[in-house]
Amino acid sequence: MTADTGPVSGTAGSLADLHTRRREVAAQIAEIGFTATGTVLYVLNECGKPACACHRDPARRHGPYWRHTCKINNKTVGRRLTEAQAAVYTELIENGRALRALLAQLQQLSDQARDLLLTAAIQDQVPVAEEGQEAVANPRENQTEKRGR
Ligand SMILES: [Zn+2]
Repeated sequence: MTADTGPVSGTAGSLADLHTRRREVAAQIAEIGFTATGTVLYVLNECGKPACACHRDPARRHGPYWRHTCKINNKTVGRRLTEAQAAVYTELIENGRALRALLAQLQQLSDQARDLLLTAAIQDQVPVAEEGQEAVANPRENQTEKRGR
């Protein structure tokens, strides 16, 4: 086994890796088309006429129809769609789902990068020793190996 005497590049490497992955996710986001929220349903309906048989017998309900429902201000809003509109809406909703998944990935990468950046910011202040304290040696300068520039 050989001891690892190479340069300390773990932190920088990780941050560079996070940058690369962030760009990859951002590129995927750029490829997503328009989006929508809600649900597309294929449902049987009861109509507004109280005397209609659809209210008594589930088998005599109207439809099935394509419907889109979504919540607006905590209220479920529905809208009837043609089959072609349902196909369009379904695609938009899938795009929306994909977008939210990628945004979650982006947030996760950002959280990791934030931790690395905050840690790096502390280490940059370390060489300045406060009064009564010994200067903390920079671990990067502890290496015996000399590297030419
Ligand atoms: Zn009816």
